[in-house]
Amino acid sequence: MLLFTPGPTPVPEFVRSAMNTPTIHHRTAEFEAIFKTTRELLKEMLKMQEVLMLASSGSGALEASLISLCSKKVLTINSGKFGERFGKIARAFNIPCVEIKNEWDTPVSLREVMNAIQENPDIDAFCIQACESAGGLRHPYEEIAKAIKAHNPDIMVIVDAITAMGVEPLDVSCVDALIGGSQKAFMLPPGMSIIALSQSAINKIEQRDVGFYFNLKTELKNQRKNTTAWTAPTTIIIGLCAFLEQAKKIGFEKIYRETKARSLACDEAMMAINLKVYPKIPAISMTTIYDEQSDEIRKILKNDFQVNIAGGQDFLKGKIFRINQMGIIPLSEIAWVVNAVELTLDKINRRTFNGLANQVFLEQYLRLSGY
Ligand SMILES: *Cc1c(COP(=O)(O)O)cnc(C)c1O
Repeated sequence: MLLFTPGPTPVPEFVRSAMNTPTIHHRTAEFEAIFKTTRELLKEMLKMQEVLMLASSGSGALEASLISLCSKKVLTINSGKFGERFGKIARAFNIPCVEIKNEWDTPVSLREVMNAIQENPDIDAFCIQACESAGGLRHPYEEIAKAIKAHNPDIMVIVDAITAMGVEPLDVSCVDALIGGSQKAFMLPPGMSIIALSQSAINKIEQRDVGFYFNLKTELKNQRKNTTAWTAPTTIIIGLCAFLEQAKKIGFEKIYRETKARSLACDEAMMAINLKVYPKIPAISMTTIYDEQSDEIRKILKNDFQVNIAGGQDFLKGKIFRINQMGIIPLSEIAWVVNAVELTLDKINRRTFNGLANQVFLEQYLRLSGY
């Protein structure tokens, strides 16, 4: 079965081999050396002042960032399940919250954000997804972060980049917390999250000192010494180290270029066979198609072509399907998926198969990747 869901992503052979070792104790020089290398590679990749690795799924890092960096009121962007989650975290911790709600295919506008900030001068934190995975939508977080910092540099900008980190080069010049998760572009098993921090965020964390398990002041103190406050997810960190070393060898720029080419070419191929791309501004991390027969298409892909793709959640259940583009994906695998979608449309009598999807995919991929 080919796993093509936008999280979890498949774990490649070289990562599985690296993790296939007897468990080592986390309070040892041996593990600390691996932790140190991983930390340095992550910092180099993310280009931020500090980086933390936490034993939690991505949502743990959303919670940790919000409770650590917001002391008055937060502004959240809800264009889908993950943006909605920031609001739910705020409510769970009694943090006053202003939410901008949009359709799931629509990115938030700079004007909406600045209006909310002007109307609520007590807002001291802003949360947004780089990619809102619920509808495969890309938010223009860069220009928004820049405008917020120009208006008030004390507002903490928290970016959930769980489906953007490792997918595309990310502008962090106006970002205070950049969040990642193991099970997306890092191609690791679920269970570890990442938070990269700016100097302002570090200062705030050290002044405020909040939380217990997710106390980032405690984590900073420990992780600077290449250890963790609590038992580290050692096996995942060993896998992450192997992934980052391999990614560095390939070159992040090359991975970003190929991911973008693969994603745009797949969107083009889907449109060529009359499928509709759902979001107004699609994220690179996934191809999201709006289709009333999504469930039927997914079922045939799974049963007849051994391809597992994702559906939609909430009101988009049965209405969309999502194909992963994150990670280091062999061209032959995504080409198989593209072809299988076209064959599936033939099986449900929507369109006679003529190989157009794969033809368009390969032409566009070669053009965009520069090969
Ligand atoms: C996957 C994902 C998360 C993390 O969800 P967990 O299930 O807690 O790992 C958060 N935000 C976005 C945008 C995601 O795609």
